[in-house]
Amino acid sequence: MEKTKVVVAGAGFGGVSAASKISQIIPDVDLTIINNVDFHEYHPDLYELVGISRGIDDIKFSSVLKSLTDIPLKKIFPQKVSLIKAIVREVNMEKKFILAEGREYKYDFLVLSLGSETFYYGIPGAKEFSLPLKTSTDALKIRDEITRLIKTKDNDIKIIIAGGGFTGVELAGSIASFIRKKKRKSYKISLSIVEGSNNVLPGTAEQVRQGIQKQLQNLGVGLVFNSFIARVEKDKVVTQEGLEIPFDLLIWTTGIEGEGVKKIVGEKETKKQKIEVNPDLSTIDFPEVFVVGDMADIKNGDGRSIPATAWAAIGEGEIAAENIKRRIEGKKPILYHPNEPIFVVPCGPFFALAIFGSFLVSGILGWIIKRGVALKYFWSVLSPTEAIKVWILGFWVYFMNDL
Ligand SMILES: Cc1cc2nc3c(=O)[nH]c(=O)nc-3n(C[C@H](O)[C@H](O)[C@H](O)COP(=O)(O)OP(=O)(O)OC[C@H]3O[C@@H](n4cnc5c(N)ncnc54)[C@H](O)[C@@H]3O)c2cc1C
Repeated sequence: MEKTKVVVAGAGFGGVSAASKISQIIPDVDLTIINNVDFHEYHPDLYELVGISRGIDDIKFSSVLKSLTDIPLKKIFPQKVSLIKAIVREVNMEKKFILAEGREYKYDFLVLSLGSETFYYGIPGAKEFSLPLKTSTDALKIRDEITRLIKTKDNDIKIIIAGGGFTGVELAGSIASFIRKKKRKSYKISLSIVEGSNNVLPGTAEQVRQGIQKQLQNLGVGLVFNSFIARVEKDKVVTQEGLEIPFDLLIWTTGIEGEGVKKIVGEKETKKQKIEVNPDLSTIDFPEVFVVGDMADIKNGDGRSIPATAWAAIGEGEIAAENIKRRIEGKKPILYHPNEPIFVVPCGPFFALAIFGSFLVSGILGWIIKRGVALKYFWSVLSPTEAIKVWILGFWVYFMNDL
């Protein structure tokens, strides 16, 4: 009898979680993972790479830093799984195949988890004159650019972070501590967050916003609220309110989009650049196609879309895997219910704010919880030896940097 063919497109949090579970719970499966790079990226620590002050021009050290967030897929899936490094160009749900680098991959079941891209809201100049933070390469590029400015500019250096969400806040904390280490007495460096709403981390609890805002102020980060960027020029942002803020470096962290999704999957299946799914995470028209992570439009109990987070993607991947097994066995699928994760917001040396349920801890305890969450994740995807190796190296590098 022919094995069931399952293809997982994208090896991020959703894809790795789905593929790991599929290989554990479906014994006779022909599993293929297609990803554009041969590693899985641990996004929650990307901000750390930006702020590492030692080994700036050392290429060898840069690859050590990349190894802290970029986990080789062959270490996660040492056997039984076909790993294909290729860019997915088309998903043909009618004919049940994926086109990647000119080759067709047929499937019986498909898990789509290609993530998202940085969203520039169509703001003129935003993409052209800013740097994003989505990969370890982006992180090291930001670090290099700050270093270049420190080396070459002989007057004030102005850095703006567009967006005071999680990425913006984490990045600000990291850059602030980098500056603290690199700053020579004669230099003036200013770092500001420009945010459209009236606080950082819009949508989170009051005590979280206040705790992080206080920490940012302690670190000397300027906060510009109620300011929507209307256009970006080579050396300044102009807000809708008419404010002009000059910069030497602009980092763009405001939101994510799935414009690529439309191109790959087609207009029909795409809604607001995401793919709408049923409560069992299968697509509306194709029960053998499951969508997880940032690509999926999943509503929670009150009808609002679930925020795009790694922890949501992991949970969704597991449910998609379970439902593929159930489909094969002719059983009823289970429905996805998001659970409350521990959420941790790091901001500056040895500081993070961690919230679980109604508990909130901050400072070094939050920092320790952040490292604990990383260990838990590495442990879940790697062998114990590999997990401990990558975690200890990361712990050492980040600890020494924060001292
Ligand atoms: C800087 C940063 C920090 C973050 N911090 C946190 C955090 O602390 N906690 C948290 O919960 N969430 C965090 N997130 C959000 C979280 O990373 C995402 O929500 C999560 O990665 C979504 O998982 P995914 O599987 O949908 O996509 P991803 O993890 O992005 O995976 C998508 C995969 O598909 C691959 N891919 C994309 N296009 C193609 C293509 N055409 N062909 C082949 N392969 C392709 C990509 O290379 C990638 O491997 C952070 C995100 C960023 C950018």
